Amino acid sequence: MVQEKGTISINTENIFPIIKKFLYSDHEIFLRELVSNAVDATQKIKRLGSLGHYNQELGELKIRVAVDPEAKTIRISDNGIGMTAEEIKKYINQVAFSGATEFMEKFKEANDANEIIGRFGLGFYSAFMVSEKVEIQTLSYQEGAAPARWTCDGSTEFEITDGSRTERGTDVILYLNEDSTEFLDKHRIQSILDKYAKFLPVPVLFGTKTESEPDGEDENGKPKYKSVEVDNIINNTNPIWTKAPGELKDEDYLNFYQELYPFQEEPLFWIHLNVDYPFNLTGVLYFPKLKNDFEVQKNKIKLFSRQVFITDEVKDIVPEFLLLLHGVIDSPDIPLNVSRSFLQSDSNVKKINSYISRKVAEKLAELFKKDRKAYEQKWSDIGLFVKYGAISDEKFYEKAKEFILLSNTQKENYTLEEYQAKVKDFQTDKNGQLVYLYTADAEHQHSYIAAAEKKNYDVLVMNSPIDTHFIHHLEMKLEKTSLKRVDADVLDKLIEKEDAEKHSLSTEESDRLKAIFDKAINNPSMKVEVESGAADSFPVSITMEEWMRRMKDMSKLGGGMNFYGAMPDQYKVAINGNHKLISKILTADEAQQTVLAKQAFDLALLAQGMLKGADLTAFVERSVEVL
Ligand code: ADP
Repeated sequence: MVQEKGTISINTENIFPIIKKFLYSDHEIFLRELVSNAVDATQKIKRLGSLGHYNQELGELKIRVAVDPEAKTIRISDNGIGMTAEEIKKYINQVAFSGATEFMEKFKEANDANEIIGRFGLGFYSAFMVSEKVEIQTLSYQEGAAPARWTCDGSTEFEITDGSRTERGTDVILYLNEDSTEFLDKHRIQSILDKYAKFLPVPVLFGTKTESEPDGEDENGKPKYKSVEVDNIINNTNPIWTKAPGELKDEDYLNFYQELYPFQEEPLFWIHLNVDYPFNLTGVLYFPKLKNDFEVQKNKIKLFSRQVFITDEVKDIVPEFLLLLHGVIDSPDIPLNVSRSFLQSDSNVKKINSYISRKVAEKLAELFKKDRKAYEQKWSDIGLFVKYGAISDEKFYEKAKEFILLSNTQKENYTLEEYQAKVKDFQTDKNGQLVYLYTADAEHQHSYIAAAEKKNYDVLVMNSPIDTHFIHHLEMKLEKTSLKRVDADVLDKLIEKEDAEKHSLSTEESDRLKAIFDKAINNPSMKVEVESGAADSFPVSITMEEWMRRMKDMSKLGGGMNFYGAMPDQYKVAINGNHKLISKILTADEAQQTVLAKQAFDLALLAQGMLKGADLTAFVERSVEVL
């Protein structure tokens, strides 16, 4: 007997074609929506039970998803609170469409399905993205309630009749449309459930295996078997982020990491997040071992809302520099149908962002204080985060300056304060400016490093992709301190001292030397200058000014300074006026002068790793002759 027919109250012809059309790319989320509703229904009945409003057996609360390829249906069942016919009218027919008029006006502006679903409360109706007909069979928990059935074919016409359910709860049956038969594939459903339902708080059953069961005997008396569906629980209902940190051992965190990212290397350490004011947030963030290709590693943090997976694009929730972390964040304050525009405008999201940043800083500070040695061992992996954070987040830098480490060529690590104390006496120039020397490549710049060390200077190793920016940041933050690469000039120019050595060449001799070298080198990008170095340092060295090299590095990193990137390289060829070989060149005959100047210049190129190709061959040949 038909109890009631009616029209869903919405003053437009047909909303479903629009839903279908606009939600095209995200069709699979219908399952997330329906399973989430089922979870809510079971949690409501549990709560009623615990409040004493429901005194019957709760039974084992669970949700079941079943695919029937023959009937072309998907059934989502729960033994939750159920609905009376009145409630169906109220919650399904009216509530879902209370925002429908607005929806009709606004849908054109909406950018993604989540925005539409979230803004207009269309969770249940996402079923029509994939169905030509949807049926609800439900029995309310209320005493004396009658089972009810609701069907709707995707027009605005619905029908409510007597239902057939005999136990408390709800079945939602989707009769899939022609375009959605992909969802009859069990593997497809399995993977959607794995994505969205893996950590739901209520067991979710899904028929994944078929096994044989004895089925009498055949005509020859041999045992027969039939195939049966075996339900498997697909979710972990108690993931570790829902537990108190005190209950958990290291092993639990490591196992959970494996569950999230199978076959990944062990993380370095982790942070358990737990706040309830001014917003709710739980989660576990892991610090992975970083490879240098850190772009590839982003999008590893998963965002949940009450254990329902939402997205792994957490750009707006997690500070940019922490996107390299792995793990989960769960916040009921973030709606299920979260959209980009919501995240960008929500003030809670901003608070979450700074909370996470603070937590990470606290954890690092704690590791540093508790076990400095272990911290130093991890530095090569976490240094990248910390530097990135220091640059991009002022508040983080304020904390991080206590535990940022600088490493030198001797593989020693110093905090900023310690390092300043270490080099202050030797490396302060005549203007009171402290100069930190660094190398980007200790192998390559070996001769320059050796020269610096001979003078009791220390050389830092700055070779990670972020260091170009980090160096700049340090100079802004540290007082009267500048950083110079060891090959940016001759040492006496890098750190200028009152008592710097002077060469004894006359102006005429200097000019003559310059001319000899200019002629021998014959290259406009090499600018020859006569300098005074130590008598036992190199006769000739090739340097590139710090600022020019930095500009080039920046433009390589895409810093927008392409003008410098396009500029030809400009080097200085520093002739050491105090070197014996240089005096020898001055007094040699003209032919000899050119050979010696070329040879000395090539040696300098060689020390910079710049001697290649035909020039290298010419050098080898000339060397043999000289010998
Ligand atoms: P939302 O879940 O955001 O409220 P929905 O459109 O998904 O919006 O659902 C509308 C309402 O229908 C729910 O709030 C709930 O009262 C009811 N409902 C939906 N699914 C179920 C279910 N499986 N069991 C009981 N009630 C349900």
